[in-house]
Amino acid sequence: MRHSGGIEMTDHIAGLRISHVVQPIARPVSDAKVATGRQVPLAAVDMVFAEITDEDGTTGTGFTYTLRAGGTALQALAEEIAPMVIGARGADVQRIWEMLGWRTNSLGACGAAFHVLAAFDTALWDLKARRAKLPLAQLLGSFRDGVRVYNSGGQYLQASIDEMSQAARDSVARGIGGIKMKVGQPDWREDIRRIEAVRDAIGPDVALMIDANQQWSRAEALAFCRRVDGMGLEFIEEPLDARDHAGHGALAAQLVTPVATGEMLASYDEHAALIAAGGARVLQADCPRIGGVTPMLRVMELARSQRVALAPHFVMEQHLPLVAAFPTEGWVEHFDWLEPLFNERLEIRDGRMWVPDRPGFGLTMSDTAREHTKRSVTLRDSPEGGD
Ligand SMILES: [Mg+2]
Repeated sequence: MRHSGGIEMTDHIAGLRISHVVQPIARPVSDAKVATGRQVPLAAVDMVFAEITDEDGTTGTGFTYTLRAGGTALQALAEEIAPMVIGARGADVQRIWEMLGWRTNSLGACGAAFHVLAAFDTALWDLKARRAKLPLAQLLGSFRDGVRVYNSGGQYLQASIDEMSQAARDSVARGIGGIKMKVGQPDWREDIRRIEAVRDAIGPDVALMIDANQQWSRAEALAFCRRVDGMGLEFIEEPLDARDHAGHGALAAQLVTPVATGEMLASYDEHAALIAAGGARVLQADCPRIGGVTPMLRVMELARSQRVALAPHFVMEQHLPLVAAFPTEGWVEHFDWLEPLFNERLEIRDGRMWVPDRPGFGLTMSDTAREHTKRSVTLRDSPEGGD
């Protein structure tokens, strides 16, 4: 225990555990990057969890993730820098983020380094909220208790029209508020048929989005997007190379339908460049990819100031409280892939996902997460002992 300004500070970090968890996906999925041979189907999600415990015995749980490659590398880097966190004051989240950012600066202020920072940063925000006995959304200052939720799970390119339509109907029946489907078939007319079929399945009042996963050239994107611009889509996602900010800006200026992108960007600075180019009317920042809640809050403030909407990519588990604390209505993206890793479930009804009334993110690692752990390292006084 140390004293600061008359307040007893008992939040110094006493121990932490870093775990590499590989969560398989029951049915491997394909998007346009697979269709064009650039990627292999996605069969698992690699997670690196950080569980950070302070001197009071309160534990915050955070995580980062990667797809297809890099899980072992993220774990190794996390283990290497983890000793820096021991003894730091848990509430000083920004200071710790800067400290870890400088230590990994030679790797580039983005990419794998920031992925790893996210595991620590999200754990520290969870810890801070748990100490305050508040859900993270309320610690940040929430605007709403429930966030609009859409589903992507049944709408991959390998699904038939019947499979997609049934999956979309099932999603709506369970309370999902929007359906996002993959596009980028070799024949664009097939994409149009599939969009019309899913619209028929869900009716006129459920939001429908499409995602091209960087499939098109600038000319192809403009041609396709003009064809669908009058179809009432909620947004058109990643029509171009994810780093083509100027191309996204030029395309977005020619469409009524909002262009959504940003999921592949790996730092605040990359999001700032995209927004400056007018490339996104819906920003799809990904908290683990850009370094955690600390940079995400800066991205959110930039989006607010530029009147850009927020629909973060993947990991609803982290994005739900963040979108709840964003001034205008956004979206969270529903995937059930990570559910087995947690003891708790996020409630969905009436088209929304509801912020849990538990402190922090409101999630703890499950026995399944322990079973799927490839490697785990514990430093100092972690409550459950060694490896
Ligand atoms: Mg996407």
